[in-house]
Amino acid sequence: MKVAIIGAGISGLALAYYLQKLGIRYDLFESSSEVGGMVKSRAQSGYQLELGPHALQMNGELQDLLQELKLDSQIIWPAQAARQRFILRNGKFHSIPTSPLKLLLNSFFSWHTKLQISQEVQKPRQEIPGETVGHFFLRRFGQEVVDYLVQPLVAGVYGGDPDTLLLEKTFPAMKELERAHGSVLKGLVKQHKGEPSQIFTLAPGLQALPNAIASKLVSLHLDHEVEMIHKNRGKFFLSIRHDQEGLSDEEYDLVVLALPAHAAAELLEYTAPGLSAALQNVNYAPLTVVHTAYRKQNVGFTLNGLGALHPGKENPVSTGSIWSSSVFPAVCPEGEVLFSSFVHSGPASAAQVPQKVHRELQQNYSISGSPLFQHCHVWPKALPQPDQFILDVHRLAEVLEEEHLFACANWVAGPAVRDCIAFAKSIAQKIYSRRPSFQ
Ligand SMILES: Cc1cc2nc3c(=O)[nH]c(=O)nc-3n(C[C@H](O)[C@H](O)[C@H](O)COP(=O)(O)OP(=O)(O)OC[C@H]3O[C@@H](n4cnc5c(N)ncnc54)[C@H](O)[C@@H]3O)c2cc1C
Repeated sequence: MKVAIIGAGISGLALAYYLQKLGIRYDLFESSSEVGGMVKSRAQSGYQLELGPHALQMNGELQDLLQELKLDSQIIWPAQAARQRFILRNGKFHSIPTSPLKLLLNSFFSWHTKLQISQEVQKPRQEIPGETVGHFFLRRFGQEVVDYLVQPLVAGVYGGDPDTLLLEKTFPAMKELERAHGSVLKGLVKQHKGEPSQIFTLAPGLQALPNAIASKLVSLHLDHEVEMIHKNRGKFFLSIRHDQEGLSDEEYDLVVLALPAHAAAELLEYTAPGLSAALQNVNYAPLTVVHTAYRKQNVGFTLNGLGALHPGKENPVSTGSIWSSSVFPAVCPEGEVLFSSFVHSGPASAAQVPQKVHRELQQNYSISGSPLFQHCHVWPKALPQPDQFILDVHRLAEVLEEEHLFACANWVAGPAVRDCIAFAKSIAQKIYSRRPSFQ
């Protein structure tokens, strides 16, 4: 049995790693000259920059993987203060309450909203097919919670809009709480498992993780862009650009798509036209990541926290900023502070974005003087949106597994790196269980 994996982002790498451990032969193809996809770190002029994820959340699979790769000694936990997160409202930062009780005691929400929150336990449970995130939280907690908690969170995590993202695909655990306990609040209190899982980074930058996985792989092909997938008599063949090793002649029993939805759509035009059309419809949010450094003494605000989210109601430039140097002090030279800001825009406005971000930071944090350093990275298609268009993709992807075509990417696993890794492990086990049918 031989498997072709297309895309060496964290999903494809993790899958190759787990298949290799299970003794399954594979070829992993990556179009660019480096691995990691969106997990991209750069060291520049004394700054440690993360162009994609800025920190990862731990789970069992990730912890085991880091140990196996001997990366556990490189883990850097955040400063204690980073537990606190803030939300901008009327030009001021307010700390986000960390428990339902604190939410009620805190002055962030109006009395009317606090009353609605406290009455959530009595609201009837409802099953609304295709319910959006915005509708769910409006129904259970009211408009102010949507505007000042849910919208900034959804914009921060997905670059998305709560009125289009589906609850079941975005926050399935929330729907489960309503189903199981009749109330989100009741469920949260009953399920309280202590501290949420910690975030962390790696000393050389997060790209050390994909690089370490790649160093263990026996069959990784960089600069190999797959252009088309063909199927003939039950076997898959790939058209590969720059194929110096003659891999185009190889036949595969099984193919795994570990690349972005729009890229996968192109490859499947003839082999799986239904899935190809559905993948073409997947919406992606553009995102520009701007790093800005200032002299610490020029910042008239104490940066004690992880960072701040900016609700759309405040008409912000960015959806939020991580106070990177407060979380991981080694990311910039001493005596400086580094902000990482996220702007919901693509290449067209990239030239103006750094200046706009600087002005926003100046205003929000009482900063005097110009930035010491700025860096801008544009992701024209950053994250797939779990809206109504993802439903067909998930349905078809499941059906096509029967035809030995698998999907293992963030558009099926969810956006978090830890979820991509856990999903890759489950796909590796599924593929392993199919072995008898190929012998
Ligand atoms: C700005 C930003 C911030 C983020 N923040 C966080 C965070 O804080 N925490 C977190 O957990 N996650 C975060 N994420 C999400 C996370 O980084 C991604 O969901 C995850 O890395 C996706 O991995 P993937 O392997 O599924 O896809 P990708 O990383 O997109 O990898 C796909 C790979 O396929 C390759 N490819 C494409 N076409 C072809 C082809 N035709 N042939 C061969 N190869 C091809 C690409 O070059 C790429 O390497 C963030 C993402 C962004 C953009």
